[in-house]
Amino acid sequence: MTDADHNPSTRPDCLGVLTSGGDAAGMNAAVRAVVRTALSLDIQPYLIHEGYVGMVNGGEAIVKAGSADVGGILHQGGTSIGTARSEEFRTRDGRRTAAYNLVTRDITALVVIGGDGSLTGANLLSSEWPQLLAELVEAGQLEQEEADRHPVLQLVGIVGSIDNDMFGTDMTVGTDSALHRITEALDALHSTASSHQRSFVIEVMGRNCGYLALMSALATGAQWVFIPERPPQTASWEETLRRTVSKGREHGRRQNIVVVAEGARDRYGVSITSERVRDILAEGLGEDTRVTILGHVQRGGSPSAFDRVLASRCGYHAVHELAAGRAAEEAQLVGIRENRIVTSPLMDAVERTRSVAGLLKEKRYDEAMQLRGSGFVEAYETMRTLVRGRPRTPRDGAEPRRIAIVHGGGLAPGMNTGVRASVRYILDQGHIPLAVKGGFPGLRDGEVEELNWMSVHGWVSHGGAELGTKRFTPGPDDLPRIAQTITEQRIDGLLMLGTFDGYVAAEALHQGREHHPELDIPIVCLPMTISNDIPATEFTIGADTALNAITEDVDKIKQSAVASTRVFVVEVMGKESGYLALAGGLATGAEFVYTPEEGITLDRLKDDVERLTERFRGGQRLGVIIRGEGADDVYTTPFLWALFEKEGGGLFDVRQSILGHVQQGGDPSPFDRIQATRFAVRCVDHMLATLDSDAPESAMCGLLQGRITFTPLARFRELLDPGGARRPAEQAWYDHLRPIATTMSGLDRGQL
Ligand code: ADP
Repeated sequence: MTDADHNPSTRPDCLGVLTSGGDAAGMNAAVRAVVRTALSLDIQPYLIHEGYVGMVNGGEAIVKAGSADVGGILHQGGTSIGTARSEEFRTRDGRRTAAYNLVTRDITALVVIGGDGSLTGANLLSSEWPQLLAELVEAGQLEQEEADRHPVLQLVGIVGSIDNDMFGTDMTVGTDSALHRITEALDALHSTASSHQRSFVIEVMGRNCGYLALMSALATGAQWVFIPERPPQTASWEETLRRTVSKGREHGRRQNIVVVAEGARDRYGVSITSERVRDILAEGLGEDTRVTILGHVQRGGSPSAFDRVLASRCGYHAVHELAAGRAAEEAQLVGIRENRIVTSPLMDAVERTRSVAGLLKEKRYDEAMQLRGSGFVEAYETMRTLVRGRPRTPRDGAEPRRIAIVHGGGLAPGMNTGVRASVRYILDQGHIPLAVKGGFPGLRDGEVEELNWMSVHGWVSHGGAELGTKRFTPGPDDLPRIAQTITEQRIDGLLMLGTFDGYVAAEALHQGREHHPELDIPIVCLPMTISNDIPATEFTIGADTALNAITEDVDKIKQSAVASTRVFVVEVMGKESGYLALAGGLATGAEFVYTPEEGITLDRLKDDVERLTERFRGGQRLGVIIRGEGADDVYTTPFLWALFEKEGGGLFDVRQSILGHVQQGGDPSPFDRIQATRFAVRCVDHMLATLDSDAPESAMCGLLQGRITFTPLARFRELLDPGGARRPAEQAWYDHLRPIATTMSGLDRGQL
């Protein structure tokens, strides 16, 4: 933002932040970001406690906030400043009192974090503001001159809601955390269900929106999902459900999980409740069927890494909007679209959101589904394909393609999920999936076998890599043997799911085709690594899981220090990419983050030592420093530990923690499962299309500005860091996150 963007007449001196309506995990991160960004811009932030109740009550409910007031809340679920429903605020008298409480504190800008109800209420207050002040003047409660000095109440909204049903943002704060809770529960039920060959019907939240139901079903390999936007299409759906379940049993499925959104209904608008589904299964099949209603568990718990980062980004941008006076004309909503923070007119978003609920009431389901966007429709279709109990019959007459699936490089959470989706989708399209065991050496040694539908049963949620993976680049001696395997196994195309090293291996094969024409088959690469260091994509599968592992571990590390003044130096993975360090630092509230992109200099260390000692002298009791493993060869983690320990003197002691392989292991997060599935399906589509083309081409799959795209593999090198580091030249996340992390840790104010 430039100074020219600032409109001095609307730049607020003070702003208020509140959370309202239903609570959602991540609200605290948003509040923290609002407060700290405001301070960095010399705007005085006020915390408004208990939502509109506090705004109407005033007094101690509206208090000035300093940086330390929002310390230590990032990891807490719900909202630490409270939320409440206020009937008084719905009345004009209530809003006039609220306006009085704001104007007398010089608050002329608000950040409201809540659902559509809360945002509507705030918009009403903002649009009535001039009249409310006039009424206060008339009643003798306010001087005219004071009213004149505060002509507008600027408003920016951030959607805090677990439903993810809001227009103007692809994700709402709290949705990803809710998905974590549901996925944990579904994974747990899967294991008990399969021990007993039982069926479970799980009811999840979502009165008007099937997002949580659909995505959790996709992430856990549920058998069936009922959502409000897509009632069963046929009159005989009960029979189809029974048939699907019994077919699954015949094919060896040991458990059946049916996910039902609260608001699911049939074509006639009659509710499909969890009890109704249980009765269908129990009566028709004699299945031992249990119902579990997840309820408020879904709202609770510590926010996921994604929600912490999303909320921090939204809070930061909301305050910048207000500081620049960009909400003076019209209230704005800050959200995320295609991985970019965007603003849009608030009431437009609220009205469009409500129109979907209206369409559902009128049974205009197709229109409602379309309004959810193409990603939602695509996820629904993928879900339907993947849960089918058996493959589709091969395409009429055409020779089926033989597509081999191989991992390359190190381990990434989500590999099994990606293989499962690829195998089933290849079979669904009438082709033959082949598994290569043990990575590229397996391809060299002919370790290839055909897979069937049930070979990948249950893989959706497993960490690790069932097929095996290895860091290995085929050399001149390996290429002829790989060529031989390709010929013997009649492999038409190779799907490579792997890390940077896997890409290097794929590239070696691609280049080897000049000497070995058998190697001239299309290779489609799917980015799977925790390091987020692959070109032609803005994120890689596995990074979200690693980020959550880091976040959980750092939360625990911080808790271990309750009784002492202590600094932790935490080393995270990521090789020559600082993604995990920077995003991890943002999600855990680190003081300093050292990344390979910036490196570590002696000058910087000297500054940081001084800052840290000043902060502890000022009363700080706990600090976390995150160092990416590839940040510097000389200033290692033990070096930093020794340095801070010596310089901290009696002020604090220092502990180091190298998180290591916990970051690579573990079951994939819901986000990584969903993306692995989505990418895999699109990669198979791309593979089949390129095989049908005149000149099949090898490609790298990636997500660029929210869209899945394919870039020729031949461009791999040219997209890398020109300085020779093992990372892409373009790293959008760095520009998105760096300024926010700097502001959150107070580094841009020289603040102590
Ligand atoms: P959510 O924000 O989660 O949708 P609610 O709809 O319960 O939650 O709204 C929270 C609060 O916002 C309400 O208790 C009320 O104080 C205020 N509010 C909601 N809708 C309006 C409205 N139309 N006019 C004024 N205030 C409203």
